Amino acid sequence: MEIKNFNTPIYKLNYSINNNRLFIKRDDLLPFSFGGNKVRIAQKYFEDMNRNNYDCIIAYGNSRSNLCRVIANMSKSKGIPCYVISPADDSGERHESNNSIIVEKMGARIIPCLKTNVSQTVTAVIDECKKEGLNPYYIYGDIFGKGNEKVAVQAYAEVFFEVKKQEQELGLEFDYIFLACGTGTTLAGLICGSYNFGNECEIIGISIARERQHSYKVVENYIEKYFGEITSELREKVKIEDNWRLDGYGHYNNKILEIIKEILTTDGIPMDPTYTGKAFWGMNELLKKHQIIGKNILFLHTGGTPLFFDNLKKI
Ligand SMILES: *Cc1c(COP(=O)(O)O)cnc(C)c1O
Repeated sequence: MEIKNFNTPIYKLNYSINNNRLFIKRDDLLPFSFGGNKVRIAQKYFEDMNRNNYDCIIAYGNSRSNLCRVIANMSKSKGIPCYVISPADDSGERHESNNSIIVEKMGARIIPCLKTNVSQTVTAVIDECKKEGLNPYYIYGDIFGKGNEKVAVQAYAEVFFEVKKQEQELGLEFDYIFLACGTGTTLAGLICGSYNFGNECEIIGISIARERQHSYKVVENYIEKYFGEITSELREKVKIEDNWRLDGYGHYNNKILEIIKEILTTDGIPMDPTYTGKAFWGMNELLKKHQIIGKNILFLHTGGTPLFFDNLKKI
């Protein structure tokens, strides 16, 4: 597998709204473990890990996490021991999903925890690895989940250059880029890339979970970690909409299920109600609400194909 120089396709959708030209970048087609933005991000973690001579990896995420799936799969393919620290949902429940099954099948050690004792759990897992003679790499940095932001943000800073190259091939420029904003790593990366490029394109994150104030803080922090500082010019580039987050992570409605079915119908593309389908719905509503007409618009498909199948019966 060499995903490093793999360009995912950008092409125009049959689906259209307000006479905009809607394009999609299919990062769900990255050629490893069902693709998605987490493939690019995980790749960065493994490169960083290699550079610094670590020999086992610790991930954190719930049972539906696309990141945990990709990391468990990548470590298995590289023969690197993998630990997945997994919090229960806010309701206290644990759900089986296509992603959690893949994590299990890839032989990752799954360590359940509560959201209230993450740092203690990370400490315990790190200690256990060391006792076994391993040198563990925790993807988020220190036991409080800080210090490794730049590594992940880099992934999509580079993707912005890929997009610029593809614009040239297509003979157009995008007025807007829309994408799902969860932790904001992907959005922050694109904004950093666009700044490096001196580009005017508006990049809009549709929050799928958090309120905008919280999202802004986190995204600005990522940008600061990438550049070492954050200027007001950079702050102005951050655009996050939270009108379509509903009650937060994992919540969806019939409108989202309907648009997922419509995109599957018009373009044969799978989306899911937690990330891409929710963000696509949000973009659709925003284009109507702000009466954005006749523009070149790119939607970044950030993956999550296993979640499409988790929810297939509902559409
Ligand atoms: C993680 C994820 C996102 C959100 O990406 P962030 O960088 O956390 O904002 C969007 N879509 C899919 C499918 C994801 O797995």
